[in-house]
Amino acid sequence: MHDPQPLPHWNLGDLYAAIDDPAIARDQREALDRATRFAEAFRGRVHGLDGEALAAALGAYEAVLALAYRPQMFASLASSVDSLDEATRALSTRATEAATAVMNELRFVDIELATAPDETVQRWKSSAALAPFAHYLDRARIFAPHTKSDEVERALATKNLTGRRAWTQLYDELTSAFSFDFEVRGETKPRTLAEMRSLRMEPDRALRARAHAAVLDRFQRESTVISYLVNTVYQDHRAENALRGYATPEAPTLLDDELPRATLDALLTAVEDHYPVAQEYFRLKARGLGLDRLATHDVLAPWPDGERTVAWSDARDEVLASFDALSPRLGDLAGRFFTEQRIDAEPRLGKRDGAFCAGMVPGLAPRVMVNFLGRLHDVMTLAHELGHGVHFALAGERQRLLNYWPTTPMAETASVFGEMMLARRLLAREGDPAVRRQLLASRIEDALGTIHRQVCFTRYEMNAHARRADGMIPASELCALWSTELGRFYGDAVERGAHDAWGWAGIPHLIHYRFYCYSYAFGQLLVFALYDLWERDGDAFVPRYLELLASGGCDSPQKLLAAMGLDIADPTFWRRGLAVVTRMVDEFRALV
Ligand SMILES: [Zn+2]
Repeated sequence: MHDPQPLPHWNLGDLYAAIDDPAIARDQREALDRATRFAEAFRGRVHGLDGEALAAALGAYEAVLALAYRPQMFASLASSVDSLDEATRALSTRATEAATAVMNELRFVDIELATAPDETVQRWKSSAALAPFAHYLDRARIFAPHTKSDEVERALATKNLTGRRAWTQLYDELTSAFSFDFEVRGETKPRTLAEMRSLRMEPDRALRARAHAAVLDRFQRESTVISYLVNTVYQDHRAENALRGYATPEAPTLLDDELPRATLDALLTAVEDHYPVAQEYFRLKARGLGLDRLATHDVLAPWPDGERTVAWSDARDEVLASFDALSPRLGDLAGRFFTEQRIDAEPRLGKRDGAFCAGMVPGLAPRVMVNFLGRLHDVMTLAHELGHGVHFALAGERQRLLNYWPTTPMAETASVFGEMMLARRLLAREGDPAVRRQLLASRIEDALGTIHRQVCFTRYEMNAHARRADGMIPASELCALWSTELGRFYGDAVERGAHDAWGWAGIPHLIHYRFYCYSYAFGQLLVFALYDLWERDGDAFVPRYLELLASGGCDSPQKLLAAMGLDIADPTFWRRGLAVVTRMVDEFRALV
């Protein structure tokens, strides 16, 4: 990559001047002070408030939350790009503790909403003043049967700092410090985990195989720590579920996502039934690459004549033009991430692997973090994170804090749609069949990675959590559970090596969150359905789509999507989305 412009670092100056800015501690004190006063005024009195008084109290509650989040968001962003700096790490720990202290003061709000008698809730709901908080109130009440007393909730939150949260932090510190002395084309130098993983997209097969093995071997070497960590985090989840009365490990996620169990089961089964189409693609890819069979280190291999290096400025222009083609409003919102220095793109030691968009809170501009290495994949990732970015930007204009965050299954809608926009633009402009083949391959591989692979992860996660009920799971058994699911996904179309069994140790989502991965499949299939709507309805689709994004988390997925004419409770909905993948594979077959 010979980009004359250096890759950007973000500017967090609108939050704080630096990690030692005295305003950080001042805001933390102010937030705690306001939370304490709020608690003195309202603790134990929520049920007695009328609708108008409750609406005013919730408005004040939002203001305290926004102030408390600010130092924590800053610390989290700063440490995500500099996790090896002692002072930044210390700030991150302090900021989490300070935010927890505030949340402990405020926890009574959700608990009192959850435990209000039905007559009280009916009275509240008849008040026009409370209408903006209707969905928040409904959400607070779905957790009512699982919410413990104020005292227990505070104890749990405090112990989580040295419990679950400490373990996930340890995982991040361990893996972001990974440095590989690795030789590429005669040059041996220290490389980060992100750089090593990107080598799986190198044209040189032997290099891909070496890099793939080096990464997995590294996770295997750390398996004593990581498998203990996984077992502890899973057991923590079990213990908390038992305390709160959840019947299954997935139950709290589904409740939080406002989805019935049947929707998850229908999604997983429909995708698993579609694994043979994925395997057919892998066979076509093997033929196209002139191989008898793909190996796991070939799954992300580029096409010999298709992969090119993209300069940062070209990546920016392509992504912005693709957003603009759907709606100039989206192009403008995405463009501001560049002009307002809200993107951190340069990979460096101590920076977290992967990419994310931090939604912040309404009134504070969202941020995007990527590790840009100039491949088509990196351009797609940029479109993905900027999709999140415009989703937050639109929701932030319309929604108050308590309705801001999209529920998890909706969280990937705009991000995946962003990738579709970019792919559509690139395919439409390309006349060369070899490059078209490469573009189509990348779209199919993205779909398989987002739908089928994430379902594979989810099934592994469900089985591993279920297995934890019988006691500690040895690393060898985690490997066996992982291999089983990988085997179902790849069938005999992809050859697996012994080190592939360690893949579970390298997936941060399985440590940080529970059952998050199926949201990617949900989001991608949903986007295929939306894409069909766009093709059918043309411009009439655009305002309805922007409206969906601006809705943030103000209602359940089922209701927001029903407004778009989509019924996610209908099993054929998922098969319709998968049919789009089948059509792409059919189109691809003709090009091989
Ligand atoms: Zn995403």
